[in-house]
Amino acid sequence: MMNSTVKTVSILGATGSVGQSTLDVISRNPNSFKVIALTAYSRVEELALAAKQFRASLAVIGDESKFGKLQELLAGTDIEVASGEKAIIEAASRPSDIVMAAIVGAAGLRPTMAAVRRGATIALANKECLVCAGELLMAEVEEHGATLLPVDSEHNAIYQVFDFNAAESVSRLVLTASGGPFLGRRRSELSAVTPSQAVAHPNWDMGAKISVDSATMMNKGLEVIEAYHLFPVEKRQIEVVVHPQSVIHSLVEYHDGSVLAQLGSPDMRIPIAYSLAWPGRIEVPVKRLSLAEIGTLSFIEPDYDAFRCLALARDAMMLGGAAPIILNAANEIAVDAFLKERLGFLEISALVEESLARCDMKAPQSLTNVFEIDAEARRVAQALSASFA
Ligand code: NDP
Ligand code: MG
Repeated sequence: MMNSTVKTVSILGATGSVGQSTLDVISRNPNSFKVIALTAYSRVEELALAAKQFRASLAVIGDESKFGKLQELLAGTDIEVASGEKAIIEAASRPSDIVMAAIVGAAGLRPTMAAVRRGATIALANKECLVCAGELLMAEVEEHGATLLPVDSEHNAIYQVFDFNAAESVSRLVLTASGGPFLGRRRSELSAVTPSQAVAHPNWDMGAKISVDSATMMNKGLEVIEAYHLFPVEKRQIEVVVHPQSVIHSLVEYHDGSVLAQLGSPDMRIPIAYSLAWPGRIEVPVKRLSLAEIGTLSFIEPDYDAFRCLALARDAMMLGGAAPIILNAANEIAVDAFLKERLGFLEISALVEESLARCDMKAPQSLTNVFEIDAEARRVAQALSASFA
């Protein structure tokens, strides 16, 4: 019989950076967690390996052409296998105490919603789903009594120091940003940067898409929108400060002038462990923070001219409705084209801006509307991307 203190966990996006860090945390606390479902999109070998190592009950590969391979790799085990988007949604719907939502992009929205609708505790890394459907998702969280624990380091920091019993006494949220690999460069110095330079983040080791988002600072823009949905504050109360050392993960200012922050080494296993163990805590072998070793912490205003994506995201949040969906969809198309060297670095923000100008801004009333706006924005952005190239 299973120990009642063992929590069951399903990981959506198990082969990614956050997914693998989650498995690492679980492997160091084998008596606290049991893996139920693991999902991936293309990395079938890594998925099969993790499913075997963690004795998962279900492994799902999104890319249906890899189903045969997955079957082959897991033949002779009692691990159930499946493929396709529906099967990923089914994996999220299957009973488990915690769902780690770590798929990248708007593709994570349907599976995350499925976990919300069964009232699960969701460790949410997939920020794009809040950007696209924040109002709808949060309403369903409320309706189904789900629990949303932010994994994104900034939001996890805020969550740890936000007094939800006295939300009206919060005057400001300050999100810290590392500034990415191009911090300090002017706009004119960014035109020729390459994908390999953009994904080489100074502090964090992350998936390709979020690494490019960090380089353009779209990541911080998406996070501003994410914070607006996660915490009961006004849009104007959310600020960004560049903090290159990534030691202070974000701050909450109260009316009395007190500022509370969460600090730690820049290691995603810290917020991941927090979300898995919540409301308790577990031990993680991360580098301990030595302030004397770090010596100096610095802070700078963001450069909204060089990092135009940050300004575009804030504008999209202020507009609301369809704007954040279009922003996100166009950005996903632009980042993909940039990574394939079909678009220049500065064209990422240009493509997002032009897509916002061309798409219909009617606010979504339902999840179906969200997907319609997303699909239309992708079509517009794809066409623009071809014309830019
Ligand atoms: P990765 O690119 O490393 O991993 C993404 C995961 O999602 C992989 O398992 C991938 O499968 C899967 N996936 C990709 N496309 C699809 C799809 N269409 N359907 C189903 N699954 C899919 O991303 P990260 O781990 O870096 O990021 C995941 C999310 O967490 C993002 O939203 C990101 O913004 C957020 N986040 C990440 C942080 C980090 O440190 N990495 C920090 C804070 C937030 P496969 O690889 O097998 O194709
Ligand atoms: Mg973050």
